[in-house]
Formats: sequence, C-alpha cells, structure tokens
Amino acid sequence: MQTFLERSRFMPDQIQPHQSILANGTRVSVIDAGIIEFAPAHYNPSEIRHIVLSCGVHGNETAPIEMCSDLVEALLTQSITPKVKVQFQFANLAAMNIGERFVDVNMNRLFDGMHEHYKSCPEALRAKQLEQYTRQFFAECHNRDRKFHYDLHTAIRDAKYPRFAVYPYLDGKPYSRQQMNWLASAGIQAILLSHNPTTTYSYFTSKHCDAHAFTVELGKVRAFGQNNREDFTQSDVFLHDLITDDTFDPDSEETPLLFDIAQTILRETDSFELHFADDTPNFTRYQRGDVLATATFDDKQSRQYPVLADEEAIVFPNASVAVGQRALLTVVEIGLHDLELI
Ligand SMILES: [Zn+2]
Repeated sequence: MQTFLERSRFMPDQIQPHQSILANGTRVSVIDAGIIEFAPAHYNPSEIRHIVLSCGVHGNETAPIEMCSDLVEALLTQSITPKVKVQFQFANLAAMNIGERFVDVNMNRLFDGMHEHYKSCPEALRAKQLEQYTRQFFAECHNRDRKFHYDLHTAIRDAKYPRFAVYPYLDGKPYSRQQMNWLASAGIQAILLSHNPTTTYSYFTSKHCDAHAFTVELGKVRAFGQNNREDFTQSDVFLHDLITDDTFDPDSEETPLLFDIAQTILRETDSFELHFADDTPNFTRYQRGDVLATATFDDKQSRQYPVLADEEAIVFPNASVAVGQRALLTVVEIGLHDLELI
C-alpha cells in the first residue's frame, strides 16, 4: 500500500480532489498531489485551530517530509484523531524526486507574488498554487490566534543551534510570547527576527493570512531514510500534540536565543568569495572588522563585507547562489526585553 506522499510523488495524475469521512468521523479532503487536509467530524470554523504544516519547499530537506508523511498516514489509518483542522503540504514534489533542493529556482524566494516573474518554471507554478491553497484554508477563520503555519525545513550545513526558526517581518505587529514558548517546546534553540519583507512562504502567510507563521529549520539535510529520527523527537512530539490536542499550549521554561538580522549580503557579481570554510557552522560568531566576504567587479574594483557590530554570527552562507541573490545573513544576539511581546 503506497502512502499519500508516494502516490503524490510518483503518480500525481492519479490524485483527484475528493472528500471522505473515516470511521472515526475524521473528515479528509484530498486537494491536490501533495496537499491533504484533516478535520474533526464537527467543528465551528471560527473556534477551531487552523494549522498548515508545509514541508519539502526544498526537495532534499527530507526529515520534515518524513515526519509529515508519518502524521498523514497515522491520521488516515486512524491511529491518531485530529482535534484541529490541519492541512499538510508536500511542496516541491519534482525536486524530491531528483533529490535536489529545487528543479529550476529556489521556491522559498517565490512567494508573495514573486512567482509571477518566473512563470515557466515548476517552482513558480507550485508556489502560486500553495499561496491559493493557504489563502483558502485560512479564509474561514478570522482569529489570528487560531491560525498557524509552520514551514518545515532542514539547513544545508551544521549549526551551533541545529534547530532554529525565522520569525518573519511583522510590520508593527507584536511578537507572540506564546509562539516562542511553542517553538521552544518543539526543541527550537534560536529564533531569527526578520525586519524586512521577504519572498519566503512564512512571510506570505504572516502577511496575507494574518497567521502566526514561521520558517522552522530542524537539523541538517540528509537523503530520505538517512535521518536519525531520534534527533527530531521533540519536534515530532510537538506536531503530534498540536494536531491531537486542541488545548495544547506548552509553557516552556527555556526561551530560545533571539537574534536580530544585522546584514543581508547579496552575491553582487560572479566573483564573490566567502572568507570562511564551506563547512563553517551556522551561528559561528565573528568580531567587528572581520571580513566575511569579498566581491570583485568587472572594472577590477573590489568590495569587502566586514562585521559591523561588535559581534555578528553568520547564517545561511551560500556563495553559489545566483547573482543578485542572498549569499549570507549575519545576526546579532538580543534579549527578550528588547522586544514588544503579547
Ligand atoms: Zn529549506
């Protein structure tokens, strides 16, 4: 018997939208290849929590894909019963099938309408679909505190804090203390606060669906079947409890470390070099004046990118991105008291 994910990956044309009701009353809606939704037998749309769990926006980030697939199968076989409305999205099926981050373009740069600029590539088509499904899913719920989207990833490289989340730009809305607690209970060790609009999926949902939305990085990229699931136990338990308990509200003793994004360094030219080894872990710290990267332009002029604050840590370095795209973020640690929280 193939799983929903396997059928979505290998026989997507056979997946037709349909609805069914399981023996335990659970409502199942198959919406598209890779998109499936569960809801309790009876619910009030304005009272129930609405949760989107997306994974595989990058096709080779397998751990969250495996976690979500296991939850989908547990729901379908009725070994667990949903107490919330939850939509699972297996995002980049084509990239999963070739074991790559993406086919043509990094999908997590295509949201908030950016897909319109890349109309002919598979990632753009899918990003547009995902936006529509997510808007539809949240449309019946008008309470921000019942709307959640966790976009689940794994990082390309090792990190001092392997499990971290990106809190998208809130445009003046306060940060949620509750969500920080929830993320802590999921094993998240650090949260990056973004201060600008971006074209990531979680920013799209935060902005357009008025949901609590996060990009969540759970450990490191490995091939399907190569993940040590014990590394992900806390996140597994978190997702399970979130779906099966509508009063789930963990209060964690620990607050994740908080980091403000300090610099976004773009690859401005072909000859762009990072000044540290490829395997330098995320969150490695550097001191003021340390040069992190150099670019040399066609007119032989060069530009250096130094640390500007007393101390900055590097995140998501990738010198081989397309020219014009982000090659590196730097972050500075801040305290909880520096934030406006509700
Ligand atoms: Zn990713």
